[in-house]
Amino acid sequence: MIDLHCHTLHSDGTDTPERLALLGDAVHLTALCLTDHDTLGGIPEFLAMQPRVTTRLLVGTELSCHFLGRSLHVLGLLVNPADARFQARLEELRGRRDDRNHRMITRLAELGCPITYEEVQSQAATPLLSRVHFAQALATRGFVRRAPEAFERLIGDDCPGFVPREELSPSEAARWIREAGGVPVVAHPGRFAGAGFRWDEAMAELQRQGLEGLEGYYGEYRAAEQKYFVGLAARLGMVVTGGSDYHGSHKPGLRLGTGRGGLKVPDDLLDRLEIQQMRGGYH
Ligand code: AMP
Ligand code: MN
Ligand code: MN
Ligand code: MN
Repeated sequence: MIDLHCHTLHSDGTDTPERLALLGDAVHLTALCLTDHDTLGGIPEFLAMQPRVTTRLLVGTELSCHFLGRSLHVLGLLVNPADARFQARLEELRGRRDDRNHRMITRLAELGCPITYEEVQSQAATPLLSRVHFAQALATRGFVRRAPEAFERLIGDDCPGFVPREELSPSEAARWIREAGGVPVVAHPGRFAGAGFRWDEAMAELQRQGLEGLEGYYGEYRAAEQKYFVGLAARLGMVVTGGSDYHGSHKPGLRLGTGRGGLKVPDDLLDRLEIQQMRGGYH
């Protein structure tokens, strides 16, 4: 069993990279890929754990893209952490995120929830603030009862306090990841759009834009979704990956490796991913 999607407190998770590596080993993962949003900040600490665990520790990241008017997440799996150009590109993304965060502070004040940037920062172990930290700060100040309510009323994608970021196009994300030696993969397509969506067409378009794989196994998929997306990848000739999207206590009940209980990502997906990595992209 492997897990190619998880987060530490370097983005919006709650575990340290060290703890994540130990946890992966404890649940007997063959391989574990760390995929924090917009950063490789946790990678040195994560890789330094390799001598202490049997689980193979792998490098990745998760980027947000703009596609069909919505946010589409793209995993960059097996990127080279020493690639200076990729590091600079991630830094630019973090700058855009920070601009968005400051604008969200202003918007929330207009909506009667005047929290400060410093308050949000104090809830986070990282300078890379995301909406989970905003949700916590809003709950701490009593503007919502609990963090999930912040997403329902204020900062969820369709809520008045949400401010979008300037996001990459899928083709740009795919190129950046390829140029860093990684494989660009569509993260949790079932969360972007569910039943009834014309995925065959949309995924073929993403493939034309340079996406080479899709997450067919996911911590929060139902069995039917897994079957559908694994089949879609086979029809299009894309690689299948899988992971839990573990966030520690920010996603209660979601476990590393097993997700909500039924997840089991087969080891041989990693072999195919590595073959795809060597094969190179369509560029
Ligand atoms: P950001 O990257 O700052 O826009 O924040 C996105 C993060 O917020 C996601 O990775 C999730 O962890 C979290 N998030 C987004 N929407 C929701 C939601 N409706 N409920 C709970 N968490 C959410
Ligand atoms: Mn996240
Ligand atoms: Mn995601
Ligand atoms: Mn994720």
